[in-house]
Amino acid sequence: MKPIRVFAVIIVVLAAAVGGALGVSTALSMAAPDAAQPSVKSEAEPEAAQLLHPEFDLSMNELRNLVSAAPVEAQEAVLARPQYFLELMKKAMKLPADYLVLVDKQNRLPSDYVPHDLVRLNEYSDRILLNRSDLSLRRALMPDLLAMIEAAEQDGISLLVSSTYRSYDYQAGLFQRNVERFGEERARTFSAEPGASQHQLGTAIDFGDITPAFAETAAGRWVRDHAHIFGFSLSYPQGFEELTGYIWEPWHYRWITRLGSEIEQEFFGGIQQHFLEFFDAAEPQLRSALESGSRE
Ligand SMILES: [Zn+2]
Repeated sequence: MKPIRVFAVIIVVLAAAVGGALGVSTALSMAAPDAAQPSVKSEAEPEAAQLLHPEFDLSMNELRNLVSAAPVEAQEAVLARPQYFLELMKKAMKLPADYLVLVDKQNRLPSDYVPHDLVRLNEYSDRILLNRSDLSLRRALMPDLLAMIEAAEQDGISLLVSSTYRSYDYQAGLFQRNVERFGEERARTFSAEPGASQHQLGTAIDFGDITPAFAETAAGRWVRDHAHIFGFSLSYPQGFEELTGYIWEPWHYRWITRLGSEIEQEFFGGIQQHFLEFFDAAEPQLRSALESGSRE
């Protein structure tokens, strides 16, 4: 232990010499790059461990871990505005669970899941252009859909609603018909197996003629540019086929609420799959951080 003590003395002497040579303030700022910024942190509680939001028992390091599976741009966006992000998360966790539930090839709805507030769109046929007479959607999204249609009309655009809620059994039949017609491998790129379709949620809408050509119509361009304002999100964007498991579907939008749309736009680059995958994975930990943070 004597060599250790001698070594320590040398370090102290060296540090003093360096401090003297460079000036103490320079040496300090080299050791701590953020020392110049006003800060209330103490030695025992470095910045990374401080709580980010008064109602969440969550440190910067814990939030960093929580977003580590998201794309780098999303991680940076979240860590740049953690308080704003957590405030939106707090509200998102108060929404009914099926508004933001992840439904894809790996995450399926039960066969008996039916939204409790379906309404027939025929009731709105004076205001919505319908492609068929048996369409229904959740009542919860109707105010946003009607507002979007009204805004489109103001811009001289009429939005045709072509496909909406589909039951588990209907989707099973549809998938089977697509497999018979196109072969299983191809059918899987655009048709969901029963339980894996967002249409079972009653919050997904196919607009126009349900073909790629819709993207270049006036309605297709309008909805691409404006849907997010009304809480609708393009589920299967171009360039993300690997991520979503489906071909680009410029006609297929899912209502994720205006709040969900804000989170998706501000933090997840407008990519629904990135947002909902994050929310699916992180929600239990966020919820327990909110509960224990609120108790304190
Ligand atoms: Zn669809």
